[in-house]
Amino acid sequence: MRLSQYFLPVLKENPAEAQIVSHRLMLRAGMIKQSSAGIYSWLPLGYKVLRKVEEIVHQEQQRVGHIPMLMPTLQSADLWKESGRYDAYGPEMLRIRDRQDRDMLYGPTNEEMITDIFRSHVGSYKDLPLTLYHIQWKFRDEIRPRFGVMRGREFLMKDGYNFDLTKEDALHAYNRHLVSYLRTYERMGLQAIPMRADSGPIGGDDTHEFLVLAETGESEVFYDSEITDLTFGDREIDPSDHDACRAVLDEFTSRYARTDETHDPELFAKVPEERQRTARGIEVGQIFYFGTKYSEAMNAKVQGPDGKQVAVHMGSHGIGVSRLLGAIIEASHDDKGIIWPEGVTPFHAGIVNLKQGDAEADAACDALYNSLKALGLDPLYDDRKGGAGMKFATMDLIGLPWRITVGPRGLKNGVVELTSRRTGESEELPPEQAVEKLATIYAGIA
Ligand code: ATP
Ligand code: MG
Repeated sequence: MRLSQYFLPVLKENPAEAQIVSHRLMLRAGMIKQSSAGIYSWLPLGYKVLRKVEEIVHQEQQRVGHIPMLMPTLQSADLWKESGRYDAYGPEMLRIRDRQDRDMLYGPTNEEMITDIFRSHVGSYKDLPLTLYHIQWKFRDEIRPRFGVMRGREFLMKDGYNFDLTKEDALHAYNRHLVSYLRTYERMGLQAIPMRADSGPIGGDDTHEFLVLAETGESEVFYDSEITDLTFGDREIDPSDHDACRAVLDEFTSRYARTDETHDPELFAKVPEERQRTARGIEVGQIFYFGTKYSEAMNAKVQGPDGKQVAVHMGSHGIGVSRLLGAIIEASHDDKGIIWPEGVTPFHAGIVNLKQGDAEADAACDALYNSLKALGLDPLYDDRKGGAGMKFATMDLIGLPWRITVGPRGLKNGVVELTSRRTGESEELPPEQAVEKLATIYAGIA
């Protein structure tokens, strides 16, 4: 993309309404625009990152055999009356009446709808196990929408639902989700720590939240500092291997890590004092096992091996796709702007032409741009007429991990400058080598 042809409405001033850095930077970098409280338009740059985050979630869901689908945003209230949650949910649910006077609602989550789909089409234990998911907009009329996309009213969520014949199988699905989530967040450059949590209105027996540590997080968290040494890395875990999934869960939940809702001071006191940490965290996902709560209430039964009808065991699993953009920025920025991890960056590299209009500099930039594109990379070329200071400031603000700077002085010696946004380190090298280096870096990412 050439910047002169793009739509990147960056702001010079700090927007007064933004209280936290990710919100401020998303507004300043022209990623989002508020349309009303807690509801945002995703401008091109923000939309690009949202898509990348979404794509990682899709890939990691499908890696472990979960099946994508799409349910509507608007739901009929009938199903919710059946499960008993229509009254239980409270004012967070946006209730709507259509022209036929039917009660509708903008879905805050989809347990009821998926259970209805399941019971309409699945009748035998032979069709299990089954895990379906979708990535769809949700609406929750939050009492205090704030911090930009972090606590929106309309937000994008991946929600998935597993159906299993036995509790044991459903717990395996739970463990498999934990494994898959660890990998998902790491691909986005995030460390998200699974913490024992409270099940809230979804209900259930077992639940973990995934928290990214950040000063601006809304949850207070308590943990053993050893937990932050754990990384999932590039382990290959067979999703059907119960023991392997269980071992990962044991490893990542063996040390104390809880939110304020489930914090147990007595248990925490057993952690060696020098390892006790109290901090703040952003919830980026949650997994639940809730047994037969919905299947009993909504009569979602299958015929078991013995011919008897049994209610299926279920779990649900959510990832805050739009909130993740805020969480990534909270975890990765400096005073100049965002620093995108390579896995989610909107463009792979920026090209800055220090002398737009100079035939040689323009030709070198065009050549770089074309060879990056030929390799399947997605560069952003700042081809505006303007000073180096302005161009560097824009690149730093929008946070592309790599910048190639092209100017007449370097070109005389046959070199361009390749700069890492994260470290600020630069090296001079011939243009072909800069291209090669970027190709190598990104080959290791996707
Ligand atoms: P919270 O405690 O932050 O209100 P929740 O526990 O009610 O969230 P879940 O039902 O677990 O949310 O939804 C799954 C994920 O969706 C959450 O882990 C979070 O990342 C995201 N999410 C929930 N509410 C919002 C919101 N208002 N804005 C953006 N993302 C949200
Ligand atoms: Mg939650």
